[in-house]
Amino acid sequence: MLDEREFGIIGEAYQTAARGVKLARKLANRPLCKSDETALFGEVAARYFEMTGVADVNPREILKHRLSRAGPACSRCGKELRSPAARKCLECGYEGGRSGESGIAREI
Ligand SMILES: [Zn+2]
Repeated sequence: MLDEREFGIIGEAYQTAARGVKLARKLANRPLCKSDETALFGEVAARYFEMTGVADVNPREILKHRLSRAGPACSRCGKELRSPAARKCLECGYEGGRSGESGIAREI
């Protein structure tokens, strides 16, 4: 998971690449094509590798690894919930998985 500073670096790389692809498409008057994906995500993968040393991650997934988008830890298994508003843990299936909430109340 990336903190806000790290995600800012990744987000900036993606935004710069997106502007470049958009301009290239406009100049060539063409639709989005498969080769644009390399341009869009190449710099994202490079920045992620610089920060983490990990190279074999889908760059699309990197854009989802923002710490502030994760929920609190599940009170049963400790895994982060999918979002701050999530109530069910996708790891263990526990409902009411937020710390301090009763799973029983969610089942009624
Ligand atoms: Zn859980």
